[in-house]
Amino acid sequence: MSVCIFCRIAAGEIESKVAYQDESVVVFHDANPVTPVHVLIVPREHIENIMALQEEHSKLMGHMLLITAKVARELGVAETGFRLVTNTNRDAGQFVPHLHWHLLGGRALGWPPG
Ligand code: AMP
Ligand code: ZN
Repeated sequence: MSVCIFCRIAAGEIESKVAYQDESVVVFHDANPVTPVHVLIVPREHIENIMALQEEHSKLMGHMLLITAKVARELGVAETGFRLVTNTNRDAGQFVPHLHWHLLGGRALGWPPG
């Protein structure tokens, strides 16, 4: 059994509110949402963060972006707008060491980020 929380969510070992899933990607609602729409786009494969990506992941990354657009449409933020965030390592405050990006929307977002 994996000790990685997102591997365990992807495997269905830990419950989550799934918005979309297929053979390579899972999208679920963040347990501590910071915006009215806050989901995480997560590859099933354990990849630590974008710095661990290899050429072989190119197709998977493209697929994740297409799924992001599909989910944004389904959650009603395609027209109003949203932000994608992938926290990477210490300064960004990456808490879960399994690649994911946050889809944040449903209200106006400040810029620059904190
Ligand atoms: P970060 O690694 O900094 O991008 O943040 C990880 C995100 O995962 C945080 O926004 C958490 O609220 C979220 N999170 C952690 N555990 C769970 C869980 N079991 N289900 C849903 N979201 C989670
Ligand atoms: Zn993992």
